[in-house]
Amino acid sequence: MPVRRSKKISHTVIRDADMQAIATADIHLDALDHNLATIKRLAPNSKVVAMLKANAYGHGAFTVAHHLNGAVDAYGVARIDEAIALREAGINTELVLMEGFFSADDLPLIVAHNLQIVVHSEFQLSALEAMAALTGQIQLPLKVWLKVDTGMNRLGIEPQQFQSFYQRLRTCPVVDREIVVLSHLSSSDQLNSDITPRQIALFERTCTDGSFPRSLANSGAILAWPECHYQWVRPGVMLYGVNPLHPANVDDVQLKPVMTLHSSLIAVKSIQEGDSVGYGATYTASRNTRIGVVAIGYGDGYPRHARIGTPVLVNGVRVPLVGRVSMDMITVDLGPESNAQVGDYVELWGQNLAIEDVAADAETIPYELLCNITARVKIDVLSN
Ligand SMILES: *Cc1c(COP(=O)(O)O)cnc(C)c1O
Repeated sequence: MPVRRSKKISHTVIRDADMQAIATADIHLDALDHNLATIKRLAPNSKVVAMLKANAYGHGAFTVAHHLNGAVDAYGVARIDEAIALREAGINTELVLMEGFFSADDLPLIVAHNLQIVVHSEFQLSALEAMAALTGQIQLPLKVWLKVDTGMNRLGIEPQQFQSFYQRLRTCPVVDREIVVLSHLSSSDQLNSDITPRQIALFERTCTDGSFPRSLANSGAILAWPECHYQWVRPGVMLYGVNPLHPANVDDVQLKPVMTLHSSLIAVKSIQEGDSVGYGATYTASRNTRIGVVAIGYGDGYPRHARIGTPVLVNGVRVPLVGRVSMDMITVDLGPESNAQVGDYVELWGQNLAIEDVAADAETIPYELLCNITARVKIDVLSN
C-alpha cells in the first residue's frame, strides 16, 4: 500500500507542474465579499443589483451568482440568454435585463423565467400593452424598470416623455405596480467633470415626486457621488475589485482584485545586444540580457496591443514586456542577472499587479481586459 500511495503522489506532482504552464484565472471569493461589503458600507440605504453581464466581467457568471446568492438584492445582465442560463443554473435571485427585450417574441420567455425588464422605448411599451390586450384578465406581474436618458444619449426615453410612459406602465395590467426609475451616468468616473451633477439634476427634475424607487449609480457613482445612491445601486467593475475613478483617490476605499491572471515561464534564453525579439522584430535589445517566454497570449485574452514595457510579475519581480504579444506567448526582459527558470510563476494582473497599470499600457480599460478572458483560460475558484 505505501508504494501505491507514493506513486499516486508523484503523479499528482507531475500533473501540477503541467498545469502551471496553463494560463489560469484565480477567482478570489473573499475579495468579492470584501468588495461587496465596501459597496454596502458606501451605500448603506440602497439595495444592490450586482452586474453579472459578460460572464460577470470575465469572472464566471455562475460562480459569482452562486457565491453572492442571498447577499445582494438582484442581478443585472444585458442579454436574455445570459439571464436564462442563470435561471437554468438554479439562480432564483431577482434578475434584471438591463436592455429590456429586443423583440416581442421574447416576452413569453421573460414571463416564464421571471425576469425583470428595463423599458427604454415606445416599441417596448407598445409590446407590453399589446400583450396585456391579448392576455385579458390574467395578471402577469412583470417587474419593469423605466429608463430615462439624462445625457448619455444611448438608451432611455426623453425626460419630457417620462410622465406619459410612467402613467401608461402604471395602468398596463401586465406590469407590476412598483416601477423603478433609472438612468445611466456617462462620466461618473471623472471626478473633475460637471457632467454628473448635471445628469443628477436632470434626473431629479424628471422624477420629482419620488414616490417610486430610483437608481442611477454605477461603480463610479457609488464611490464618488453619494447624492445619487437612491434606492438601488448597480455596481459592476468595483465588485470585481477595480476602481474606475480618475484620479483614483477616494480615501478609505481599498478594493481587492477578484481575478488574478497567472501563467508560467516555458522558456528562458540569453540574447545579445542588437538581437531582436518576436513578430515584426519590434524590439531590439540594447544590452545582453535574458528573455523569458510566458505561456499566455492574445488567444487567452492578454491584450495584443500591450506596449513594450507593460509590467509583468515574474516570481514577484516586475519586469517589462518586450516584443509583440503572440497568440500563445509573450516575451519579457528578465534582465542579465536573472535566475528565473522554466516553470516559474508569472502574474499578468491581479493581487500583486494592478490591472489598471496593465490597461494603461495596453491603451484600454480594465473592463475590456477582464471581459476578454477567453475560454482557454482555466478558472480556479478559491475561497481565500
Ligand atoms: C454595466 C452597467 C452598470 C455597471 O457599471 P460599472 O461601471 O461596471 O459599475 C450599471 N448600470 C448599467 C445599466 C450597466 O449596463
